Amino acid sequence: MKPLTEPEIRNAFVNCTKGEAKRLYVPRELSGEPWSDLDFLGWRDPRAPDRAYLVAELNGPPVGIQLRSSGAGSWQTRRSMCSVCVTTHTGGVSLMVAPKAGKAGQQGNSVGTYICSDLACSLYVRGKKDAGMGGRLHESLTPQEKVQRTVANLAAFIAEVVT
Ligand SMILES: [Zn+2]
Repeated sequence: MKPLTEPEIRNAFVNCTKGEAKRLYVPRELSGEPWSDLDFLGWRDPRAPDRAYLVAELNGPPVGIQLRSSGAGSWQTRRSMCSVCVTTHTGGVSLMVAPKAGKAGQQGNSVGTYICSDLACSLYVRGKKDAGMGGRLHESLTPQEKVQRTVANLAAFIAEVVT
């Protein structure tokens, strides 16, 4: 994806208020992010470990989603699979919940998904980050096809949040 600036990132959020988007934690060293290997930028708030964020540019302007990860739970000891990039980790996948955008979100509706706790799906899919033993299933897909699948899974999740 193309590099985004902090104002672009803050403007992209669809499921929080303008005030929240202004205040939420954005990584300082944006120029150090591996943009050319990213399908989306994902990060966690170091001051609030249950808060996570992602920004993707799919078709059109960037879309930002705020997420809450569930607290420590049984997922930490089990092997679980990320539903975005289909990587399996032991303790590296979190259930994250996104309030829906707009009225539905104000009424308390949300969408949950299992996703890599460090939100580094793009790097796992490209083999730039190692999920440990057995992290990748043996699949006949090419890296390009895995990237396409990751983007499709992410797009489906974002669509659920936005609609
Ligand atoms: Zn993942």
